[in-house]
Amino acid sequence: MDILYNSTRTKGSKVKASEAILKGLSEDGGLFVPERIPALDKTLKEFSEMTYGQTAYEVMKLYLTDFTEQELKDCIQKAYDEKFDTEEIAPLKEAGGAYYLELFHGATIAFKDMALSILPHLLTVSAKKNHVKNEIVILTATSGDTGKAALAGFADVEGTRIVVFYPKNGVSPIQEKQMVTQKGKNTYVVGIHGNFDDAQSGVKKIFGDKELASYLDEKGFQFSSANSINIGRLVPQIVYYVYAYGKLLQKGSIKDGEKINVVVPTGNFGNILAAFYAKQMGLPIDKLICASNENKVLYDFFRTGTYDRNREFVLTSSPSMDILISSNLERLIYHIAGNDPDKNKELMEMLSKGGAYTITDEMRGQLSGFYGNYASEEETGRTIRELYENTGYVIDTHTAVASCVYGKYREETEDKKVTVIASTASPYKFTRSVMDAIDHQYVKMEDFELADRLSEISGTKVPKAIEEIRTAAVLHDHVCDKTEMQKAVTDFLGV
Ligand SMILES: *Cc1c(COP(=O)(O)O)cnc(C)c1O
Repeated sequence: MDILYNSTRTKGSKVKASEAILKGLSEDGGLFVPERIPALDKTLKEFSEMTYGQTAYEVMKLYLTDFTEQELKDCIQKAYDEKFDTEEIAPLKEAGGAYYLELFHGATIAFKDMALSILPHLLTVSAKKNHVKNEIVILTATSGDTGKAALAGFADVEGTRIVVFYPKNGVSPIQEKQMVTQKGKNTYVVGIHGNFDDAQSGVKKIFGDKELASYLDEKGFQFSSANSINIGRLVPQIVYYVYAYGKLLQKGSIKDGEKINVVVPTGNFGNILAAFYAKQMGLPIDKLICASNENKVLYDFFRTGTYDRNREFVLTSSPSMDILISSNLERLIYHIAGNDPDKNKELMEMLSKGGAYTITDEMRGQLSGFYGNYASEEETGRTIRELYENTGYVIDTHTAVASCVYGKYREETEDKKVTVIASTASPYKFTRSVMDAIDHQYVKMEDFELADRLSEISGTKVPKAIEEIRTAAVLHDHVCDKTEMQKAVTDFLGV
């Protein structure tokens, strides 16, 4: 049965999956949500015998119902290939009493690759299906990892251009170097004076500008989004939770049907929302554990029912989670409001006007499957060091936030269910923070020296993504004020 997509803010304007992928954001400012969440139609036992690509097909076909089998399989094949440094695509590593689901084996060594290596293909197929003649311009705000993963995914993809905005002083040196060395004639990278929320708000504003859209349409361009609000990113992220469950079953770590917990280091709420969808589809997940860094707006939300972004923005060692407006939370709000766009819209308007909203008790009652907590900077560093000292396994700062929060959860609840921690970045992407956590003496070393040292102490190879930027030339040095983002876009398009 076909699945259509509703906006979280207006009743009744259903679109097909390919249209939702093309648009990214609905015209009313809402996010696209499937009209119902499909159930898995293969058994857990069957999933336990599947490769990553097979799992991807079985999960994604349930959502992208206007794609043919061949189209979807082609997209999957182009996405999950040698760009990943392991055939497993997303290996599970046991350490310190949990299973780390390593989502960082793609081109840019962070979990964004899981979805952004397939999105360009989903998008070009969607464009063809909908007879789009315009060139598609991907506009992206990034807190560090999305930007590079989107650039890598879209570079030189015919019929597309990509513009990435990042907070000039809000990403790690390696993240910045990865982006500004991006090749591809259709790529444009701009640092803005502002933080990630400024970049994201700026991009949303450009998207919402109808006059600009019709002007660009005349010139043969139309915008789309690679941000985690696009269902073309959300759906591929559901896959690896199903895959991880299958692998645990295959290894005999769990029994068929046994419930597991999932811990996700969270920023924009996309990754954990995908886990929520996996659970709604019938995957045996008990708790969804939402881990925040010191920007703990989600922790406060789960504790109090009030979402309040009016607070100081903290720059942490897990910059991809330095976010005060978690865009994808809107989808959860819509669902717990009984799929009611009016109620959701009211809350989102409160958020955009006053920076805060409070959900009803009835809505709160539906959040019992979630647990939220956070890790301070000090706790994050300590988690990296202790796991390394106890097991030899090195995790990045984002994963450490999750690992620390899992420790707090276990202490509070004594819940011993088998637990999967989403490991969202390679430690090589945040080498300085990681090595500093392990031993302060490393502070004096250069970035690439640190990578070599990390390789020695962890017994892992320096990833290709890092080797490549050692010597790469800087190709992008544009910087602009947060109020000049639209001009940066039109300049790049030459209109
Ligand atoms: C993007 C990102 C996150 C946060 O994921 P969301 O889907 O935005 O919640 C966590 N860790 C890393 C390394 C990331 O790149």
